[in-house]
Amino acid sequence: MVDWSGGNDRGPKPKADAIWVCAARDGVADAPVYLRNRALAEAWITDFINAERAAGRRVLAGFDFAFGYPAGFGKVLTGSDDPFAIWDWFAAHVQDAPDGNNRFDLAGQINGLFPGIGPFWGNGLKRDIANLPRKGSARAGHGMAERRQAELQAKGAFPVWQLSGAGAVGSQVIMGLPSLARLRKRFGKDLCVWPFEAQNAPIAIVEIWPSLIAKVIAATQPADLPKDAHQVFVLAQTLSRLTPDQLTAMLDVPINPEGSILGLDHVSLLTETVLGPPPLRNDCFAMPQGTHWTPVDQALTHLKSRLSVVVNDETIPLDQAAGRYLAAPVTAARAHPPAANAAVDGYGFAGPAPDGVQVLPLVQGRSAAGAPYAGDVPAGHALRILTGANLPKGVDTVVLQEDVTATQNEVRFHGPLKKGANARKAGEDMTQGQVILETGRKLTPADLGMMAAVGVGQLRVRRRLRVGILSTGDELRTPGSAIDDGQIYDANRPMLHALACDWGYEAVDLGQAPDDRERLGQILTEGAARCDVILTSGGASAGDEDHMSALLKDSGSLALWRIAMKPGRPLALGFWGQKPVFGLPGNPVAAMVCAMIFAAPALRVLAGGTWQEPQSFQVPAGFTKSKKAGRREYLRARINNGVAERFASEGSGRVSGLSWATGLIALNDGAQTIAPGDLVTFIPFSSFAA
Ligand code: AMP
Ligand code: MG
Repeated sequence: MVDWSGGNDRGPKPKADAIWVCAARDGVADAPVYLRNRALAEAWITDFINAERAAGRRVLAGFDFAFGYPAGFGKVLTGSDDPFAIWDWFAAHVQDAPDGNNRFDLAGQINGLFPGIGPFWGNGLKRDIANLPRKGSARAGHGMAERRQAELQAKGAFPVWQLSGAGAVGSQVIMGLPSLARLRKRFGKDLCVWPFEAQNAPIAIVEIWPSLIAKVIAATQPADLPKDAHQVFVLAQTLSRLTPDQLTAMLDVPINPEGSILGLDHVSLLTETVLGPPPLRNDCFAMPQGTHWTPVDQALTHLKSRLSVVVNDETIPLDQAAGRYLAAPVTAARAHPPAANAAVDGYGFAGPAPDGVQVLPLVQGRSAAGAPYAGDVPAGHALRILTGANLPKGVDTVVLQEDVTATQNEVRFHGPLKKGANARKAGEDMTQGQVILETGRKLTPADLGMMAAVGVGQLRVRRRLRVGILSTGDELRTPGSAIDDGQIYDANRPMLHALACDWGYEAVDLGQAPDDRERLGQILTEGAARCDVILTSGGASAGDEDHMSALLKDSGSLALWRIAMKPGRPLALGFWGQKPVFGLPGNPVAAMVCAMIFAAPALRVLAGGTWQEPQSFQVPAGFTKSKKAGRREYLRARINNGVAERFASEGSGRVSGLSWATGLIALNDGAQTIAPGDLVTFIPFSSFAA
């Protein structure tokens, strides 16, 4: 992305009104580059495009000036409506040197071709120029529209006719089009210009206008970077974070010889993308070379270190926030309790009360919750007070009503009673301004109660993670439908769908994919556009019909994890359309166990939560078992009479064992012999949802 300039050479020290360029790839921008004049900028951009092309990459190059003029201008200037004729005209007529150029003279010369006065105006020079008025209001009868269609929509955009004065863009256009004309000649068929041509070349040149998202650019401006540098940084990074579909939609406008502004109809998407989290790295699942069987703990450590949140933030009311992940710490808006108050129904006075029988005259009136007593209670007196009522002045201690004998005028009770008894101090629970919950917290019902108590009404949380669920395999049929020999019902999809819902996500049913690579690719592409992450089952190994792993391999992002665990089989991890894909085994027992052990903690991080090991308990075993060294084993298990039972068969085809169980017993990687009464690690299924 290029922030162009219409002025002269700005010298070696970075200046805001020179040229700034910023390149981004895969959602990560390089540092912005300062270019003091147009000749240097054109050379830098040419070299950059050449280098990118040599590396096999495509280039979307954005320039922040109008690519065309209001309709009809070209006809007068060049005799043609072809916008490129205007570019070529300027390339032939503009004289540009670091210390000066002929833009004002040219503008006057062009005005001479039009009737009346104008359309160009504004003269940055001391000398007068024939046909170039200094004031816009001096123009008349030139016949040109003041703005292009795009500028009518882009509120605040300056007309291309104004050549000087604060905010003017006309000079940039005149001094920019010759460079674009030369780039176009240089790259020929490899380059297309938006929206003058079909977008079918590896280099595309587009018009950008950073002010389209001025608010969010200003909101993210670092103190140590010039505004122009930050603008190109934000735009480059943001455009490279869009999915191919989003970018395609943005580029999809009718051919328009006036030119347009990229993203004009997509301001909220751009804004959301600027504020959104950085994308995951495409290689984040890659395991170090040389590991054949990866221990479970190592695989988990890998996921923990590589994954990060992928969903944007939003502000929602407290009562809708259960199960959401906090995007910012929450501080108490008010102390809790806000004022000292009574913990019981009784009588308040100034404590302590000494040993022996106490007789305190009663002050008339009372203090109740929501109706505090306004006056003072004199020393040696008491006041009727109810639970939750503020302690009036002169009261710090409350005697329980059950412990007193009261008449109209006095109360009697047995001392001693400590100062502060049965009273709550202001802020003893939470103080005002105290951080009560941290970023990444998954909000519980109790959290909502706590936040409500201190007056938090709105919360900054992560948007709910959208999890796509897809089954793969020619043999699968939807439960309830007709079925032939050789076909089976799809058990994984309803199971994984329900798991994702249980974990608090928005599950998206992506259906079944046949064992057909092309069709599976299409379904994944559609799924990636609708979801933040995709869980698939089946086809994850390296066999002939393992299309899931084959496709991810073709996309260049496959990491085939062979985990030393039972039940297992390889996990195929990768990316499709920039979205992470967890290719789980097809076998339902393995699919569910792998989903719980690997997908549950991973999705939690993608959703904005902190990494969390599932809560487990040490429980005496109610069975005998010996296991080999070298792999982790997860047994379908449940607790009965304080003892962990395991499902009778370890056969991984037995789906009924999943239903029988309420959790998993995890047996660690070493060899073990377990006898009844030995402690084993039991993980309730519900722990994975926490
Ligand atoms: P795959 O990983 O595709 O080789 O599948 C392994 C085993 O799991 C095969 O017996 C499949 O038929 C079975 N399987 C795959 N997907 C499902 C599913 N969604 N529901 C039930 N069984 C499945
Ligand atoms: Mg299969």
